[in-house]
Amino acid sequence: MLYDQEAHAAEMERTFIAIKPDGVQRGLIAEIISRFERKGYKLMAIKLVVPTKEFAQKHYHDLKERPFFDGLCDFLSSGPVLAMVWEGEGVIKYGRKLIGATDPQKSEPGTIRGDLAVVVGRNIIHGSDGPETAKDEIALWFEPSELVSYTSNAEKWIYGVN
Ligand code: GDP
Ligand code: MG
Repeated sequence: MLYDQEAHAAEMERTFIAIKPDGVQRGLIAEIISRFERKGYKLMAIKLVVPTKEFAQKHYHDLKERPFFDGLCDFLSSGPVLAMVWEGEGVIKYGRKLIGATDPQKSEPGTIRGDLAVVVGRNIIHGSDGPETAKDEIALWFEPSELVSYTSNAEKWIYGVN
């Protein structure tokens, strides 16, 4: 069904997705990016960074009371992380579906964690869990100038926007 540009623009969302050091070291960058790209989401920002432990603690601040927090922050800061912003209708929620459950033992086959990871402490990818988190995480990892706005020629075919 065709619908108008305004309705389409109102549904557009951005989410923060990161390939953690295990995913980068295991050579899974292209595999993971391709799943978001083939779905029809649009890449708006991307960079490879080694976060400091302090930065990792900021990123995971919600989990600071959890017993695995320290190990998790050590791990996230142990090597390169591929930080990205992806845009699309419903990308925050559906991005989490593509990623799969936190524990790869419980992730469905066909999801990124279900297909490519085995244990919760090495689950290869992060994705924002809601609109507020997405906003905060994008602002933490990227300067506004690092987000590239552009029209993709595929968009009219993906969304049927007239
Ligand atoms: P996510 O949003 O699916 O990534 O899950 P959470 O926000 O709950 O947790 C953040 C990250 O902490 C997860 O992706 C895991 O890498 C790690 N984590 C979560 N739960 C556990 C746990 O029980 N044990 C360990 N070792 N790591 C965990
Ligand atoms: Mg989370």
